[in-house]
Amino acid sequence: MKPTGYYTHPVCWKHEMGAGHPECPERLSAIEDRLLITGVGDALERREPTPASVAELELAHGRMHVAALRGLHDELREEIAAGGPSHAQLDPDTSINLHTWEAALLSAGAALNATDAVLAGELENAFCAVRPPGHHACRDKAMGFCFFNNVAVAAKYAVERHGLQRVAIIDFDVHHGNGTEDIVAGDDRILMCSFYQHPFYPEWNHSGAANLVNMPVSAYTKGMDIRELIDMTWLPRLEAHRPEMVFISAGFDAHREDDMGQLGLVEQDYVWITQQIKQVAQRHAQGRIVSVLEGGYNLSALARSVEAHLRVLADV
Ligand SMILES: [Zn+2]
Repeated sequence: MKPTGYYTHPVCWKHEMGAGHPECPERLSAIEDRLLITGVGDALERREPTPASVAELELAHGRMHVAALRGLHDELREEIAAGGPSHAQLDPDTSINLHTWEAALLSAGAALNATDAVLAGELENAFCAVRPPGHHACRDKAMGFCFFNNVAVAAKYAVERHGLQRVAIIDFDVHHGNGTEDIVAGDDRILMCSFYQHPFYPEWNHSGAANLVNMPVSAYTKGMDIRELIDMTWLPRLEAHRPEMVFISAGFDAHREDDMGQLGLVEQDYVWITQQIKQVAQRHAQGRIVSVLEGGYNLSALARSVEAHLRVLADV
């Protein structure tokens, strides 16, 4: 079996949104530490991503959105040089520092590089331990800790640049991937399957498009119930779609120890979910999976859950 790729970059640690913000660089350190002490990291092929190009970002985002973030970055750099504040605020939850632009390009770039390497047959599958995350980033709007939609950019890239006819996006973050829905709704080449706590952040308007398998669940739903719902809703649709590649918006904030949400998943549930995705990928996609980190804010639960996810992907 070919190796599982592990994409990360030092600049992903340098993006931060202020003291005490839950989407913090320590999340990546917790994952690294866990992979080191468990030895799982030894089974992975570490790679450093290259930044996504503006043209690649524009596969999923409007030209003005990309240009506006670039402009905000340049403005902030000038203000900092003139003694101004270190952050520029986009919304109450989301701000940029001097490294955000580069980190955002590298995070999207990781998903693209992983897509290239998996499609080239160099890697069996890949996990991108990157931040900022992406699944709340809409075509024309940054929000909810997200700037560019890493997974949606990669899915569009797989169909537009690699010519794949059918791909799937699985989103198991506790929050709905409203940005991904915004970008892929109505594109029948891309099937998006997700569950998410509802009612909850974010508020958005359902597109009702046929390529979306949305599975809202109430607070305090446990892993066994989620598994049953996945079995009944996602899996038949995935079988029918026969994706040639599977992307994962891998958020781990549905873990029961994660206070950001109120769902009751544990590591074994992430093992089960990853196994189901892997089986779909093996049946239809030559095993090709690119998984990209989204949420997960309890550092211990995040690290254990990523380990569990990677053990299935890398078969260790
Ligand atoms: Zn989340």
